[in-house]
Amino acid sequence: MDSAASGLSFVRTEIARACKDAGRDPASVTLVAVSKTFPAEAIEPVIVAGQRVFGENRVQEAKSKWPALIEQYPGIELHLIGPLQSNKAKEAVALFDAIHSVDRASLCEALAKEVEKLGKMPTLFVQVNTGAEPQKAGVLPQDADAFIKSCQTTYGLTIAGLMCIPPVEEAPGPHFALTAKIAQRNGLKLLSMGMSADFADAIALGATHVRVGSAIFGTRPPFKGAQA
Ligand SMILES: *Cc1c(COP(=O)(O)O)cnc(C)c1O
Repeated sequence: MDSAASGLSFVRTEIARACKDAGRDPASVTLVAVSKTFPAEAIEPVIVAGQRVFGENRVQEAKSKWPALIEQYPGIELHLIGPLQSNKAKEAVALFDAIHSVDRASLCEALAKEVEKLGKMPTLFVQVNTGAEPQKAGVLPQDADAFIKSCQTTYGLTIAGLMCIPPVEEAPGPHFALTAKIAQRNGLKLLSMGMSADFADAIALGATHVRVGSAIFGTRPPFKGAQA
């Protein structure tokens, strides 16, 4: 078997196990296979193995890889999991079914404009910077309630859930729990949390979307260049 396809099978088994342990229905957890940095040839075997939901962290890279695959394979769902510049909102709304990184008013304004123009509302997640890390995107936990409200009332955006990326050097559990608590008090149903190293913990704490890259596709080449 292709190594990414066997990675997929391993991750699916682990998700099923985590759901069983948590007394959750496996259908309540969506696996977002994070294919950033990997070329179409590496992604195709994973599509052929049945995976349909994929995550990318840069608009330009996704634009260069995905339109051809989307045309070839029916039912692909594409999620933007990385930071989004307002001037790329148009391309992002056009290409992605979900955006996990809504985190500031200027981006909401740009997204609202494109949603209106294209008549298409991607599934939107507000990113929460649960560790208050200065280098990391996301709204601070104490600003989250007001920001979520303003997305809806000021910009007319439907916010479906929250996303977090815990600090690498900390236990992720408290960050997942905090994100779940903020979602619950704001009536949001979706929780995008958990990556290769901690998706089982995230499922135990209520994740509905786990974003898993290296456990499926293998180690990525070192990060180079600017983010987009
Ligand atoms: C790359 C990335 C992931 C996947 O990380 P792995 O550790 O490879 O599973 C998940 N979420 C975000 C936001 C990412 O940028």
